[in-house]
Amino acid sequence: MRAVDIIMKKRDGGELSREELATVINGYVSGEVPEYQVSAWLMAVFFRGMSFRETADLTDLMLRSGSTMNLAGIKGPFVDKHSTGGVGDKVSLILAPIVAACGVRVPMMSGRALGHTGGTLDKLESIPGYTTRLDEQRFREYLERDGFAMTGQTDAIVPADKKLYSLRDVTATVESVPLITASILSKKVAEGAEALVFDVKSGPGAFMKTVEDAERLASSLVKTGQAMGKRIVGVITDMTEPLGDKVGNFFEVEESIDCLRGKGPADLMEVTYRLSAWMLVAAGITKDVSSATKLCEEAVASGKAYELFIRNVKSQGGDVDRMLSLCGNYRSAFFRELPAPAAGYIQSIDAFKIGLAGVYLGVGRNKTSDPVAPDVGFIFERKIGARVAAGDLVATVYGKDAASLDAAWELITGSLAIGPVEPKRNPLVIKEITAL
Ligand code: URA
Repeated sequence: MRAVDIIMKKRDGGELSREELATVINGYVSGEVPEYQVSAWLMAVFFRGMSFRETADLTDLMLRSGSTMNLAGIKGPFVDKHSTGGVGDKVSLILAPIVAACGVRVPMMSGRALGHTGGTLDKLESIPGYTTRLDEQRFREYLERDGFAMTGQTDAIVPADKKLYSLRDVTATVESVPLITASILSKKVAEGAEALVFDVKSGPGAFMKTVEDAERLASSLVKTGQAMGKRIVGVITDMTEPLGDKVGNFFEVEESIDCLRGKGPADLMEVTYRLSAWMLVAAGITKDVSSATKLCEEAVASGKAYELFIRNVKSQGGDVDRMLSLCGNYRSAFFRELPAPAAGYIQSIDAFKIGLAGVYLGVGRNKTSDPVAPDVGFIFERKIGARVAAGDLVATVYGKDAASLDAAWELITGSLAIGPVEPKRNPLVIKEITAL
């Protein structure tokens, strides 16, 4: 089978067989099919799309390109959550201990900040001593003992995605629903979870800017995941403004601790409880989301979820006393206040601009090798819908140095719009698609 014939078939709108897909994927991983042919194939997929059967085969072939996490011998149920990425999205840090406190094991493999979106690993690593590099033995041990464990992806898991994702990045083929589906799902299935909840973000701060696009991705993830034998829920949530009141690596750890102590902001808790509740339903703990939500609320109110969070920090090498003493104090010396430029209602705090500004400040990065800082970011005093007088403090912004604040400032002031009429709020949970 020649790669050029397979490219031609996809270019002309044909449906590729599993064998043809295997020729491209296995050949790319082994080095037999060169990058220029895979690039052409990716562009053909970008324009022609893939049938549901092709997407499922591609996901399975990518999954089989590496090893999978072995959870045998540990008592489940195992359920994980994946977010397509947002700004201020620290839900994983709060949700994992809540769900674990309700009797579900959460094997969580997360990513790093890239572009305007934040990354769970960078947030966790802002805790002094905390390591996200766990070998399989330690991952299994902590998962069994604490109910959840947090790690980064290893080179052995889905190597095909590592190669394909970097190629997609430089060939303008990232934004393809079947390619995103196969990339995300192959990695999540490799973790060994029996059920998965996807938080597909929609809005300016998300990968998918419109609800329609988010819905296409959510449906594809749910359908393909189901074909791979998993119980799946896709929840489309709003990412118009940053989630919660804090954006920044340690700032978000701090806010997660507040949430687990019952003092979290309403928007963040709403999204966290909804996703956590679906995880319990997917695990078979309860039949409906409303009783599952009550269990999650009890896990916070009783202190059990907070206790598990602290236990995980200790297990993964974090210094709990130091972490707690840094809360409220871990702030860069370089900061600037963002005042409301006029009186009225806050109409917008554009999450995309805030996320991009965060890259200058040191919250995020342009390349995976760039360093990030723990003590920089945004602390919002007011969000969309708040009534303000001219000069009222909207946010305090911390940067790694004075130059970073200068570089980010136009984006930050440009993210904020004030108007005379109270804005209509988007619902936070927009749509849910289930295959349980
Ligand atoms: N995240 C992934 O892991 N893969 C994609 O293709 C897009 C987002």
